[in-house]
Amino acid sequence: MVVNQAFRYELGPNNSQATALAKHAGAARFAWNWGLAERIRKLQAGEGTTNAMAQHRQWNQYKRLNAPWWTEVSKCAPQEALRDLDKAMKAYFSSKAKGSRRVGFPKFKRKEVKDSFRVTGSIHVGVKSVTLPRIGEIRTKEPTNKLIACEARILSATVRREADRWFVSLTVEVHRSDPVPVKGPMVGIDRGLTNFAVLSDGCIIESPKALTKGLRKLRKLSKEVSRKQRGSKNRAKAKLRLARHHRKIRNQRKDALHKATTHLARTKLVIVVEDLNISGMLRNRHLSRAISDMGWGEFHRQLAYKTAWYGSQLVVADRFFPSTRTCSECGEVEKEVPLSKRTFVCGACGIEIDRDLNAAINLARYVAVSSTETQNACGEESSGRGGNLGETGLDRGEQKPSRQRLDEATLWEAGTGRQGS
Ligand SMILES: [Zn+2]
Repeated sequence: MVVNQAFRYELGPNNSQATALAKHAGAARFAWNWGLAERIRKLQAGEGTTNAMAQHRQWNQYKRLNAPWWTEVSKCAPQEALRDLDKAMKAYFSSKAKGSRRVGFPKFKRKEVKDSFRVTGSIHVGVKSVTLPRIGEIRTKEPTNKLIACEARILSATVRREADRWFVSLTVEVHRSDPVPVKGPMVGIDRGLTNFAVLSDGCIIESPKALTKGLRKLRKLSKEVSRKQRGSKNRAKAKLRLARHHRKIRNQRKDALHKATTHLARTKLVIVVEDLNISGMLRNRHLSRAISDMGWGEFHRQLAYKTAWYGSQLVVADRFFPSTRTCSECGEVEKEVPLSKRTFVCGACGIEIDRDLNAAINLARYVAVSSTETQNACGEESSGRGGNLGETGLDRGEQKPSRQRLDEATLWEAGTGRQGS
């Protein structure tokens, strides 16, 4: 199968290259801000929306009069920025549909905050270098052997500044051998309230320790920035320290997530997670929570492509599936389980079980439950979940691979979800 994959390297540009990189990032930001202002003007004037292509044509005229530096940068940088803007606008408008995850209106970009740009076209990779259009051959700080070895076609290069360093992320097309189905159990994963996630077999994925420790320092550093006088050298230094720390935390989180998702995709046959919209409901204002929110989206994203790579399957439970309200022992569905309750207590059988573990076990049974229901769907109404759970569910504590052969159709059915509850 052909998959898109990203390879990321730190760049070691010389002075003039660093200037060129900053110029490109500036051009991308300028085009984004121009495009956004233009879109807002159109919306306010009642002229409706536009698209990336139309904006690019308009940009080509605009730049000659208003952006004299346009000849110094690759035309890709503004063009790709306008494409990104188009995507961001579309995401915003489609998020207005009922029940979708909220997406904010695109924001104007500020100088030196998340500087980045993307180029396409003739990009080459040397043993320890990357050649970008208009900028030339830039040294990379790590060897690029792995990328060269897979003889991939390079689709695009995204360059980002993180604090005082530059990184390039190359999106490439790679041929991967078709995966053999993983031999392993079916697991449900529930987002934990204290831990990052809880698995139906009782395993816990902890939030990276560095994260919790790092947050204290993050607060301290951001206070330092606000205490320093605006525009002063000391403020700039404090800002750099803050940005470096942000980068460190981000990398640690990414690392931990990659380890967890690779392990899961390689060892479990089916992984059931709850709908992102549902986990979004747990959102609150704490910083740690915000960071873990981002992590959860990334967790889903990584699981989605890694399960395809390694031959396992990801199932997203229907948002109406009452994973937190159902008793994993007897199948009784409670009316309400307040967030403050850490333990699930069943009104019917009296079992007491950790709230997240209970939900994870229910999720692990999701495919079995919903496929049984699907079979019943055309006949009478299915007779409550209790019976079904007993027959097809997994026993807590012992993980068995599902007894039924799960063909793609069943999974698809389950993934797109009929309404349960
Ligand atoms: Zn019960």
